[in-house]
Amino acid sequence: MTEIVNFDALGLAPELLKALTESGYTTPTPIQAQAIPVALAGGDLMAGAQTGTGKTAAFALPILQKLLPLANASTSPAKHPVRALILTPTRELAIQVEESVKAYAKHTQLRSLVVYGGVDIKTQTPHLKTGVEVLVATPGRLLDHIEQKTLQLNQVQMLVLDEADRMLDMGFMPDLKRILALLPKQRQNLMFSATFSNEIKKLADDFLSKPQLIEVARSNATNDNVKQKVYQVAQSDKEALLIQLLKEVDAKQVIIFTKTKLTASRLSRSLTREGISADAIHGDKNQQERIKALDAFKAGTVLALVATDVAARGLDISELPMVINYEIPSAPEDYVHRIGRTGRAGASGVAISFVSDDEEKYLLEIEKLIKRQIPKEVVVIEKPTRSVRSSRTSSSHQDRPQEDSVTRRTPVKKKSADPWFDQPYEPAGQKNHAAMTPNKSVNTKKAPVAALLGGLAGK
Ligand code: AMP
Repeated sequence: MTEIVNFDALGLAPELLKALTESGYTTPTPIQAQAIPVALAGGDLMAGAQTGTGKTAAFALPILQKLLPLANASTSPAKHPVRALILTPTRELAIQVEESVKAYAKHTQLRSLVVYGGVDIKTQTPHLKTGVEVLVATPGRLLDHIEQKTLQLNQVQMLVLDEADRMLDMGFMPDLKRILALLPKQRQNLMFSATFSNEIKKLADDFLSKPQLIEVARSNATNDNVKQKVYQVAQSDKEALLIQLLKEVDAKQVIIFTKTKLTASRLSRSLTREGISADAIHGDKNQQERIKALDAFKAGTVLALVATDVAARGLDISELPMVINYEIPSAPEDYVHRIGRTGRAGASGVAISFVSDDEEKYLLEIEKLIKRQIPKEVVVIEKPTRSVRSSRTSSSHQDRPQEDSVTRRTPVKKKSADPWFDQPYEPAGQKNHAAMTPNKSVNTKKAPVAALLGGLAGK
């Protein structure tokens, strides 16, 4: 394939090139190099690209370029009809996409706006009424505006379905169908999806016309910049392990994923009690609370952001060094999305998954999907919290060299009651006893958490 070394070669307008330079972009990412020419040529596109690949610019730049001839300074709303509609599954992603559009369009007269649910619709209406060429929206709120007749879509000539797989997962298909029925038949469609399931292919068949398929990485591939690890740990030990890890590694920004809102809130409170600045971001938080948490996280005043999948989808926090899966997701695709928060745009990252016996089955599914085995480590918990027992993974199987860093292992026996409370005191150093004090009583395979993360000097 011909290498495109800079954005000029893509034929973008000087106004856009200037904005890209100001954003610090010098070279198009692979998805940009491939998608921009196709989109500029006017064809439909089905692109397999996950968050972190630069996909937003891959659709935003051709949209802006194609709308440039229509840009104008008129104050009449009629001169600024919605011409490009970008649909995203979540509010956070919608906000981020629109921020990018605005940044790329800053030297043009094209207007953009984002509308999403969870905030008073009346606050969005006046902005819509002034007219915008590029509208970024979540499906539900878009339909609300259509119902309230605050929005017309009859001039839309370009449609983007961003994170289409997620939209389907979140049950947006009926909304999408309603929206698509309202758009002019003659239009260009660009669809982006991290995964290519059969449902996605069906969606593409229904809504795209002879799309060009572009895939920058194997679908469901995880980013090579991300160092993935699994820590085998009992569910009841996870909280203590997390606290220990966060204290040891001196990480600046960590996203911690939980399966439920309840766990996210509880964990965020526990971390705060331990003196670790944390906040939770999940579906029960209103938009203001989410934005506040996200801003504090981005600014570095909140170190640990505990998030559920839906809330975290599409978050763009550059150079996030670490993602922790406190609970691994039961849907393997979510794993790919989660760890896509780190190792972006060439930066390196660490993704650690805490996996209890019960979660082994999900781990196997994930490894099947990403077509690689995630190295496993046995960790030592130094200070159990109230409800914590030792991370007894006493299985001698794990200590065999050939089983270090491989997938198969003998499942750890799980006792129904918490055995830590029943154990007689045993001095540290006792054979086969997972340590309650640092690193003395464990076998040589076990290492302090910071060392496992490469966080100690010289590692
Ligand atoms: P996205 O996949 O669109 O969410 O983009 C991921 C991150 O990469 C964002 O922070 C973008 O600002 C950044 N980015 C996108 N394209 C480029 C590029 N060509 N050069 C450097 N950074 C980029």
